[in-house]
Amino acid sequence: MEILTKALAEIPRAQQDLREFVRARALVRQLGRDRVCDALRSALRPWSGTFEVSAWDSGRGHFSTFGGTPSRPNPYVRRWCVSPSELRDRLQRNAQRVRAKGTGLCLTHARVAATGGSTDEEVIERTALFCDADVRGEPDGLVDALRRAGAAFVLSRKVRDSSFHAVIPYAAPLATIPGPAFKQTYRVRMGVLLGLFSEMGELACEWVGVGSPKLLGFDIATARRLGTLEYAYNKREPNDALPLFEANEGLALDPHAWLEALGWTAEPEPLRARREPAVFYDGPTQPNTWLPALESAGMLLQRRATGGRFCVCPLEHEHTEGPRNPTATFVSSAGVLWCSRGGGHLRGRYREARAAMPSHVQHFFTENQR
Ligand SMILES: [Zn+2]
Repeated sequence: MEILTKALAEIPRAQQDLREFVRARALVRQLGRDRVCDALRSALRPWSGTFEVSAWDSGRGHFSTFGGTPSRPNPYVRRWCVSPSELRDRLQRNAQRVRAKGTGLCLTHARVAATGGSTDEEVIERTALFCDADVRGEPDGLVDALRRAGAAFVLSRKVRDSSFHAVIPYAAPLATIPGPAFKQTYRVRMGVLLGLFSEMGELACEWVGVGSPKLLGFDIATARRLGTLEYAYNKREPNDALPLFEANEGLALDPHAWLEALGWTAEPEPLRARREPAVFYDGPTQPNTWLPALESAGMLLQRRATGGRFCVCPLEHEHTEGPRNPTATFVSSAGVLWCSRGGGHLRGRYREARAAMPSHVQHFFTENQR
C-alpha cells in the first residue's frame, strides 16, 4: 500500500485519471480480489459475440492511421467485425510475418467515421477496453480472473519480455461525444478500469514520479486517446520467437455496472472542491454568469494562471483557424468572455453568444451580462 499512498500524495489533483487509477488499485486491495471478481461477474452481459475493430495495415505502421477528411478519406482503414477468436486468428496470422518496428499492423478497438482515421474526432464509439502492460509481469493473474468471471477477451503476449495486451469487449459500445467534458469523464473512467484490472492481474507497481505513469500497471496513456492504437505484436527478426495469442468467447463487460457494483465514487473534481463565491461575482450588481453557465454546459477548460477559466467558444463554428485551441477563449475572473479567434469575434456580440448556449443554461444569464 505504501507505493500507492506515496503516489496519491504526489499526483496533482488535475491528473484526475491517474489519481483514480491509483485509488482503484487501492480499492481492490481493500476489498480483496474475490469480491472485485464477483462484482465483475455481476457486470458481464450476454452480447452479439462480435465487436468492431478498425485496422490499418499499409506496411507503414502508425503513419497509415492519419486523420481523413470527407473529401480525402484515409484509404487504408479496414473495418473488422470479429469474435474474440476471429481477432486472435487474425493477430496470429499477422504475427507470422517478419516486420520491422513501425511497419506492422495497427488497430483501434472502436468504430471510426467514414473519413477513416484514428483521431479522437473520428472515433464514433469504443467497442472494447484496451489494456497494455509493458514489462509489468506475466498476464496469468489477469487471464485467470477473466476466465473465472467468464469474460470475453483476446490476449497477445510477447515471449521474450513478458509484455502483453488484453482486449476486453464492451457489452454495448461506448458512444463518444466530441468535447472536453466527455473526454474528461471518459479518461477518469478509463483510469478506474485500468487500475482495477492492474490490481486484479497483480501487475508490478512502481512509483518514480508523475513522469512514469506506466510503471503503476497498465499504461494509462493508452486510455487518454479515444482512438488509442494497439501495435500488433509480430516477429521483428526472422529468428524472433512467435508471440502467443489466446481468446475467450465469454460475456461482455458493462463498465458502468462494474463500477456501480463496487460502490465506486470518484474524488470530487478539483475545481469544484476549490470553488469559491468570489470567483463568480465581481460585485453585487454584476454577477459573473458566464462561469456557471459554461460549467453547466460542460464547456469550461483549465484555469488561467492570471484568473478566470479557459472555455469552449459559444460561437466556435465561426472559427476558421483550424483545430480548437484550448487557450483561445476564456472568461476573466471579472466575468468577461473573450475569444481571440477572428480578431476577437465575440466583442459586442454577447447576446448572440448567449443565444448559442444550450437552452438548459439560459436561466443563468441576466440582461446586462457582458
Ligand atoms: Zn470564438
